[in-house]
Amino acid sequence: MEIDFNASNKNLWKEIYDNENLHHCYNCGTCITGCPASHGNPPLLVRNLARMVILGLEEELLDDPTPWSCVSCTRCEEMCPMDVKPFELILAIRKWQSATDPTYIPPAIVDIYRRGYTQPVGVNTELRDKLGLPELQTISKQPEKLKQFREMLMKTPVISENDYMFMGGDE
Ligand code: SF4
Ligand code: SF4
Repeated sequence: MEIDFNASNKNLWKEIYDNENLHHCYNCGTCITGCPASHGNPPLLVRNLARMVILGLEEELLDDPTPWSCVSCTRCEEMCPMDVKPFELILAIRKWQSATDPTYIPPAIVDIYRRGYTQPVGVNTELRDKLGLPELQTISKQPEKLKQFREMLMKTPVISENDYMFMGGDE
């Protein structure tokens, strides 16, 4: 994708995350090293999101589903040497995405409906195999429980009113 920097919103960071520390981010990637969602598909790369906000890449950021992969562990907050508070940045981006487009449905909700969780567990599964540990019993491997879980979710307005988005794609 070609990015038009001339069209970028220079004040986007103020709209999203009015925190001067954001400009101290020097792209070191420490926030990614401890982030469990950095193994996701697509991976959550906090430093990239910080750069997108600083550069004012509004369109690209609106289309980015990765902030919704964050599992709120706050490791990045502990690790960031520049006190950018990456987790706060993630929350601010989510809020901004939702406020900018009232029809926006967070991709994490679709993932939760389809498979019962937001993060793929492939890395953990391989590691468990190597260590000889029993297979992980995720909800997606228990069809009856997944069915009950979906029925429960279908009672919430955000899902029942947009049910076409949640069909198919079982994993
Ligand atoms: S750890 Fe902090 S300074 Fe380093 S890339 Fe992440 S947000 Fe930027
Ligand atoms: S709080 Fe979110 S972004 Fe930060 S390390 Fe945890 S999962 Fe990653």
